[in-house]
Amino acid sequence: MQISANAQAIAYLISAVLFILSLKGLTHPSTARRGNFLGMTGMAIAIIATLLGTEVVSYGLIIAGVVIGGLIGIVVAMRIQMTAMPQLVAALHSFVGLAAVLVAIGTFLNKRDLGQLNAVLMGELSAGAIIGAITFTGSVIAFGKLQGLISGKPVKYAGQHQINAFIALATIALGVHFAMTGSMFSLMLMTVLALVLGVTLIIPIGGADMPVIISMLNSYSGWAAAATGFTLQNNLLIIVGALVGFSGAILSYIMCRAMNRSIINVVFGGFGSDSGGAPTAGAAAMEKGIKSASVEDAVYWMEDANRVVVVPGYGMAVAQAQHALKELMDLLEQKGVEVKFGVHPVAGRMPGHMNVLLAEADIPYDHVHEMDEVNPDFASTDVTLVVGANDVVNPAAKDDASSPIYGMPILEAGKSKQVYFLKRSMNPGYSGVDNLLFYQDNTSLIFGDAKDTIEGMVGALKGVAH
Ligand code: NDP
Repeated sequence: MQISANAQAIAYLISAVLFILSLKGLTHPSTARRGNFLGMTGMAIAIIATLLGTEVVSYGLIIAGVVIGGLIGIVVAMRIQMTAMPQLVAALHSFVGLAAVLVAIGTFLNKRDLGQLNAVLMGELSAGAIIGAITFTGSVIAFGKLQGLISGKPVKYAGQHQINAFIALATIALGVHFAMTGSMFSLMLMTVLALVLGVTLIIPIGGADMPVIISMLNSYSGWAAAATGFTLQNNLLIIVGALVGFSGAILSYIMCRAMNRSIINVVFGGFGSDSGGAPTAGAAAMEKGIKSASVEDAVYWMEDANRVVVVPGYGMAVAQAQHALKELMDLLEQKGVEVKFGVHPVAGRMPGHMNVLLAEADIPYDHVHEMDEVNPDFASTDVTLVVGANDVVNPAAKDDASSPIYGMPILEAGKSKQVYFLKRSMNPGYSGVDNLLFYQDNTSLIFGDAKDTIEGMVGALKGVAH
């Protein structure tokens, strides 16, 4: 069965509307499930309408691709740990980029044989191949950094920005030459240079800027898809590519604002942070030593508190401590304690990471507050429980101009009467920076896996020995 071009266009329009509604749904945790469902429905309609289109010559290879790709996708999605999600996203972006490059080259060869090449088409092919190639290698490097296959430290060298600018200009010049002449050599050299540019743009970025880069690569993958849409004359691909391109760019902008970084600096690389070692202002504080506390100490203060704020971070995801936290919240609330959750925009390892986990544990949305909402509350908070978070509460971001995370707004946990850090060791967080809050008088560390510690607290609150 095949459907007419008009029927396909209507199906694509419905899909596009569903994708827009999906994005709207994804803007809030309470509507995110519906958003996902609308997105999946839109994608199902788009795939079916494409498969029934008149352009399909034979189904054999398509079915083989869908079955093999689908199986790999299902296995990967089922096995992936929530904490490894950013790497997975980076890997998926790389596929979009690679697909855009292959479609551009394939279309060129095909149309050349048919004698259907023209300057406009070749301009589109240039754009698709360049953006796709940058997205491909950039995402592979981001994947390697996040997976720990290559060092997360920024790679910097003299004249880096000039070299990048030169490669970018040479790539564009070759793209223009290809569009004007159809030279296979220009197409290939342009693609190789764009592949190199993807590497050189991402290697100087480290530590705290990585979340923005993932989101930027998401945006690039959208533009690569849109360029492919022009090449294939597929309106839906153009619309979806533009939606992904813009939403990724807007998300990057929002994250940059939340981290007080300039998007230009992040995107052009080399301004990302990583340190290793304590910041200078931390050295004096370090000599003061740190205090460690027991589960019972923390429970003693929490039981009597008017308000407890929980700051979850990456360690909560590693420990899968969210369900135990929900139990702790319920027990404290039964004792009349107000419990709030303060979520930093870059806590965890992907946008919305903490929100997803807290929602999974049925922690009510009205208990979960963004940084700007909760920061004024810390001064009147009795106990702040920092559960596997580190960078997002580090005062070095405010007080130490030499710190690589200087300028990033933080959750001002240190202003509360007592701060308990739940972590396993003195290891720093993602950015590798020592945390000045450890050395503050009102701070104590409770060492151990966050889930075990919170289960201990739950047991103590219930009066059960542990
Ligand atoms: P951090 O990475 O700063 O700190 C996490 C802390 O969790 C560590 O200090 C670690 O200490 C502790 N931890 C790890 N496992 C456990 C466990 N099982 N039990 C208890 N504690 C544990 O996390 P934050 O959430 O505070 O900050 C996020 C950082 O990640 C920021 O620098 C951000 O820029 C970056 N980032 C964010 C992304 C995003 O999109 N949100 C993406 C990529 C990076 P210890 O080992 O001693 O236990």
